Amino acid sequence: MKFDWVIVGAGFSGAVLAERIATQKGQKVLVIERRNHIGGNAYDFYDENGVLIHKYGPHIFHTNSRKAWEYLSHFTGWRPHFHKVLAVIDGHKVPIPFNLNTLYKLFSPVFASRIEEKLVARFGFGLRLPILELQKNEDNDLKFIADYIFRNLFCGYTQKQWELNVEELDPSVTSRVPVLISRDNRYFQDKYQGIPKNGYTVMFQKMLDHPEIKILLNTDYREIIEDVKFNRMIYTGPVDAFFDYLHGSLPYRSLSFDFNYYGMEVWQEAGQINYPNEYRFTRTTEFKYLTGQNCPGTTVSVEYPEAYEPGRNEPYYPIPRKVNDEQYELYKNEMGKLNKSVLFVGRLADYKYYNMDQAVVRALSAFEDSDLSN
Ligand code: FAD
Ligand code: UDP
Repeated sequence: MKFDWVIVGAGFSGAVLAERIATQKGQKVLVIERRNHIGGNAYDFYDENGVLIHKYGPHIFHTNSRKAWEYLSHFTGWRPHFHKVLAVIDGHKVPIPFNLNTLYKLFSPVFASRIEEKLVARFGFGLRLPILELQKNEDNDLKFIADYIFRNLFCGYTQKQWELNVEELDPSVTSRVPVLISRDNRYFQDKYQGIPKNGYTVMFQKMLDHPEIKILLNTDYREIIEDVKFNRMIYTGPVDAFFDYLHGSLPYRSLSFDFNYYGMEVWQEAGQINYPNEYRFTRTTEFKYLTGQNCPGTTVSVEYPEAYEPGRNEPYYPIPRKVNDEQYELYKNEMGKLNKSVLFVGRLADYKYYNMDQAVVRALSAFEDSDLSN
């Protein structure tokens, strides 16, 4: 059998492109996935206690892109979920992103109201302000609060997560969790937010269920590619591996997870609790809050950041900083030499810190922009 396309990777990027090519062009696609399941890092499954968990850490879908939301809505209904996160600061569990409620939980009413007045006067109610911007302020009170948030919320967590200081990373990393000049305790403020009603894996099954799509699991594409007849390839894995590390290993960050089961209805006070200052782990997540599952016990994940070592663990995060982007550009140059016989798409192949919706938008545009959709 000859395929029009081989797609390496069955995560969001690979699944969206396989679905588009098969349904819109009627072409034959072979999806090759190294792991024993589809869904990439968004994969979920029922653990041995019957609790629906996310194998690679908590995944909450949130987007302002109507296009991404409507596209995925063809394959799933949604459970509305507004993610709430608490962080342990000075022994208190307080809502984050840091907002006016957090301010009043940590400081006296007199001091908090003075800061609130200044924040609202200076920035206006409702603003989402990156911590690095708040730090630029000259006012002594605002300087104090900015430094307090920086030290207590960002420094320790960032050091654990990346093994780098905040200043060594692109500012876009910390601006993912801005300071909110409002009383909004939700972790995300996007227009569309939710969790696929029957889980991510079921949504992926629907996307990939098409007679022109064949899926090969448990297979690194390099093991078999010489024996497959195909015209073109879409590659969604790590870009440095594709080129045999020609320009050196691109740094990625990894994680290890502990999953703990408790024979009780609910274990922690919120879906996610962050520990910026204590312990070696960064956060704990109780999946029932996300999935709304009604079952007797509960499973909680604990996330330990660690260095990525090819073959031992997974390259979960590209590390956004100038020196890495420059190294990625060397690989981009190599892509250009392949004359479009291989398209590189996705969080690992683009070396970009995409959320799921960004991966969907990127894959949809790759389909629309290239000669793929003609
Ligand atoms: P991936 O999901 O990584 O898929 C790539 C696939 O390619 C993998 O399955 C891999 O096994 C396969 N592959 C690689 N090399 C080969 C090879 N040689 N042969 C065959 N197969 C190969 N986003 C959100 O929007 N909200 C969240 O709450 C959220 N939480 C996250 C939490 C964590 C801990 C992590 C790590 C990510 C989170 N994300 C979240 C981001 C989300 O996981 C990504 O945006 C999305 O999974 C990217 O999809 P992708 O297809 O580009 O990559
Ligand atoms: N961050 C932090 N403290 C927190 C939460 C986030 O310092 O309590 C910083 C940290 O650098 C982290 C980044 O903001 O890596 C992005 O956080 P996010 O929750 O978006 O990370 P992800 O869910 O992608 O792991």
